[in-house]
Amino acid sequence: MTQLPADDDLGTTRAKLIRLTRLYAMLSRINRTIIRVDDAEELYNAACQIAAEDGSLSFTWIGLLDAQTQTVVPVSHAGSFPDLMHLQVRVDASAEGRGPSGVAIREGRPCVINNVLADPRTLPWRPKMREAKTNSLASFPLRLENTVVGVLEIGAYDLDYFQEMEINLLAEVADDISFALKVLRRNELRLAGEAKLHYLAYYDSQTGLPGRNLFETRFAAACSASSMPESGTLMQAILVVRLCRYYEVLHVLGPEAGAAIARAVGGRLEAHLPTAWVARLSEAEFVFMLERQDDKAALEKTGRLIRELIAEGIRVNEQEVFMDPSVGIALYPQHGTPSEVLKAAQTAAGDTPYDSGSTCRFFVAEMDRGSRRRLDMDTALRRALMRDEFVLHYQPQLDLVSGEVVGAEALLRWQRPDHGLISPLEFIPLLEDTGLICEVGAWVIGEATRVCRRWQDAGLSPIRMAVNLSARQFRETDIRKVVRQALSDAKLEAQWLELEVTESVVLFQPDQVIRTMLDLNSDGVTHAMDDFGTGYSSLSYLQRLPVARIKIDRGFVSNVVANPNDAAIVRAVVGMAHSLGMSVIAEGVETETQLGYLRGIGCEEMQGYFFSRPVPENAFASLLSEGRCIPAAPERHQI
Ligand code: C2E
Ligand code: MG
Ligand code: MG
Repeated sequence: MTQLPADDDLGTTRAKLIRLTRLYAMLSRINRTIIRVDDAEELYNAACQIAAEDGSLSFTWIGLLDAQTQTVVPVSHAGSFPDLMHLQVRVDASAEGRGPSGVAIREGRPCVINNVLADPRTLPWRPKMREAKTNSLASFPLRLENTVVGVLEIGAYDLDYFQEMEINLLAEVADDISFALKVLRRNELRLAGEAKLHYLAYYDSQTGLPGRNLFETRFAAACSASSMPESGTLMQAILVVRLCRYYEVLHVLGPEAGAAIARAVGGRLEAHLPTAWVARLSEAEFVFMLERQDDKAALEKTGRLIRELIAEGIRVNEQEVFMDPSVGIALYPQHGTPSEVLKAAQTAAGDTPYDSGSTCRFFVAEMDRGSRRRLDMDTALRRALMRDEFVLHYQPQLDLVSGEVVGAEALLRWQRPDHGLISPLEFIPLLEDTGLICEVGAWVIGEATRVCRRWQDAGLSPIRMAVNLSARQFRETDIRKVVRQALSDAKLEAQWLELEVTESVVLFQPDQVIRTMLDLNSDGVTHAMDDFGTGYSSLSYLQRLPVARIKIDRGFVSNVVANPNDAAIVRAVVGMAHSLGMSVIAEGVETETQLGYLRGIGCEEMQGYFFSRPVPENAFASLLSEGRCIPAAPERHQI
């Protein structure tokens, strides 16, 4: 039987309970504040203010460590301690370094002095402690990513105030402030990441030149200005420079060579055409605009000059490489709308992968060699659909915590007679241009759902099947109907199907697209945002888009270890996705180091050659039945 406390004890117990209750209330008020503050200063002020409102505490202050001078700089305070902002506290072995805050920072643990006026460690501050009627002191370290960055010091009127319970509670307050600092820091990183994403949408990060988006906007504006009645419709010329051997060179010299080449080409173009707008259109294409230029002979001369300029050797890592530039010229309004003119100049420069590196340049209106080839390809692709030449390969998607395969991405291949297996990168743009993507896309959805069902029927544990969708499929077909039909034909539950879309789906008629996506969601189908970070990265749309998952583009993943900028973007994307309630899958994971990094920042899933390339249906089924996986995460990482 427990003994009842005597009256005296009862009084003390009650007083203690009241004190603790007050401290609990303080803790929860500070925590509520933490949720709403959005900068560190506000956090410090609010925490000190709330703490000082507790009647038993004489003062509270927060100081940050200045590692260079070994001092603790007060950043916020509340209560009765006189002239606190000029408090001298150090973290070294001097007299000012022996107080509780110096110790808490140095040793990374709470330090308590329960009899301030008698303890030699408080000597430097004793008169002020007396003035503040403070008899007990406690200091708690504040941390950021495991490093002590500051201190929370609390004074109390009573002797022996800080007992185990009080210390634990106040240590919790310090931990919560540390947590808030971490969140705020993450937000800062996120904001930096957002600014970077915006930059990437409009500028090419390797050369600093405007990118395609910005060029298109500027060109369209220049065209419309030149069509004003008062200007009497002036010609605008654009010249596209295509580096025909670019990818070949990259293949030999590695991807870093690309940046060096691009910088050299961009620099030469800018130096020779100081009045033109130079932009990087795609990796191997540059474009510039010459305003009010309709002298064809002069343009042709400029084009030739540029070609010669770029054809000169470029030094890359002690080697000289020679690009094989071709220049295409088109005119507004002669060759159509601004976007048609751009396309025309690209065609003139030989924009399709089927044009071998030609070094000449044409005016697009007079040329149709490329278009004829396109027509041939178009016919071949139409035939491919009828003759069942398309196949799907499947790439595993793994859960980074359990290490198990949880999904597959269906990737299209074209088994072209006499040509072997052709990559989608080579023919999807053409399918998109001709609109054939809608039919082929419907076939992909049908086949992928059938295969997913077959794996389930074979007794393999069910996994998610991700299918890529083109923007045109959203705009030009009743995609919901196609999906419903495929699911019912395959007898597959909708929860196993995920549709991958890119940011371009919301560029046109976003409201309608979002409505369709919501309808598909209500049928049970989920969505993933593919190649995130490469397109417009419109964060405002992202918030409105019903996507369950964001796929971080492999361009960022591949640099995540070497390039702090890319690492910051990936971190920012993960943080942002989580704050929007979305999960994150990293594409193109090729190394264990990348995998470790992604695990560490709380990315949920991964896909990439590190585990497996895309493989045919049967190979995927064997991989599943053998239970192939990667080791589970050593511990649950938290962000
Ligand atoms: P995506 O949807 O971003 O697909 C991922 C691409 O990255 C695939 O290329 C895949 O093979 C490749 N990949 C995966 N892991 C790694 C890695 O670790 N390292 C490297 N370097 N690459 C990796 P793939 O199969 O050539 O597909 C290219 C693109 O074609 C796809 O990009 C997607 O945009 C498009 N695509 C493929 N199938 C379809 C389809 O059925 N419909 C539509 N509309 N587009 C498709
Ligand atoms: Mg994809
Ligand atoms: Mg992708």
